[in-house]
Amino acid sequence: MVRLWPFAVQRTRGNAAVAVELKTDDEDTLLTFLDSYWRDVIQPLQGAIESSEHSSRQQYPSDPGMVWFRETVSDADFYRRGLREEIQLEELPPAHKSWGGIGRIGATLAIHWPCESKTYEAIAWRMPHVAGQRQLDEKATLDIDQLEGTFLCRDDRLQSSLLAPRGNSPVLFGIRTWEEKIARHAAQTLIEGKMTEPVSGWMIFETNQATNDHLDEPIECIVEHIETIKGGHTIIKSETHQFVAFRESGNLALLCQQLKSGDVIECLGLIAPDQSIHIEFMRIKHLQPQRHRPLCPVCNKSMASMGANQGIRCKKCGHKSEDNWEERERNLPQHVWIQPSPSSRRHLAKPISVDETRQNNI
Ligand SMILES: [Zn+2]
Repeated sequence: MVRLWPFAVQRTRGNAAVAVELKTDDEDTLLTFLDSYWRDVIQPLQGAIESSEHSSRQQYPSDPGMVWFRETVSDADFYRRGLREEIQLEELPPAHKSWGGIGRIGATLAIHWPCESKTYEAIAWRMPHVAGQRQLDEKATLDIDQLEGTFLCRDDRLQSSLLAPRGNSPVLFGIRTWEEKIARHAAQTLIEGKMTEPVSGWMIFETNQATNDHLDEPIECIVEHIETIKGGHTIIKSETHQFVAFRESGNLALLCQQLKSGDVIECLGLIAPDQSIHIEFMRIKHLQPQRHRPLCPVCNKSMASMGANQGIRCKKCGHKSEDNWEERERNLPQHVWIQPSPSSRRHLAKPISVDETRQNNI
């Protein structure tokens, strides 16, 4: 299961695609089966409009697709393009057989995923026609939160579990792990939990989540200008780039708001269609010292400049002195990577280790 270019115009909500390896001595019979599988299971999903949290973007009716490649194929360059830019139907490597529409793009990319680094996700589905609040055993959920080797299972800042998807979905839960055996153990724990609702099935996927496959080398730049725009998002401009930290990114956004012209930062993130870079990782390399006027030696109030080369003066008592500045250290974390809070992180982004996060103290 691969997560793909998050800005793809006709993407689905989770922006994922799945590939399955099938082995057969009788391809004709398999293709007949795939025809009916397509017709009975996938094609009926065509035209459904998924309501999205991102209501500002234009919605398209779902347009699923399926492709069959006779041999195992792998293409690292094509796969990586599919994480970083829009891919058109016309540029897909030709499949031996294909069904449906736009979904063929994701399907073809999933098949070509070289799987060089991978993580796991155990997914369980609700019983058919069950809707509304998901029932997950509370104790089992807490046990999984404590389990070593899982990631993106919890947002401590919001004190909430990220196991269950939000909104309308046949998925009951997804547990992301570094190792397959932990995914298996965690899924069984949750399914066997007393208060967990019955599941119709579950499966472990190999995924490209948390691999950072979508990122390049960090970009280093000198901050020229910081602006907080409507909605609380922060724009950082340098001579060569424009970066965005979204309000939802929590600590990252707060940190960005405190940057000043002359600070040196390093950033990693995808280039959005408007050419701004959406920050997924940031590290401060150098902070300009904060300059301020000294305090008045007589009454301890701040002194102010009287104009160019005219020295400084206390507004309260009138004490004068030569023009000078004092420098103050700025209390921001340097040389540590910061990333958005878990609930607003991209599926593809690799979490910084807990130890590193604890050192940050912001
Ligand atoms: Zn004074």
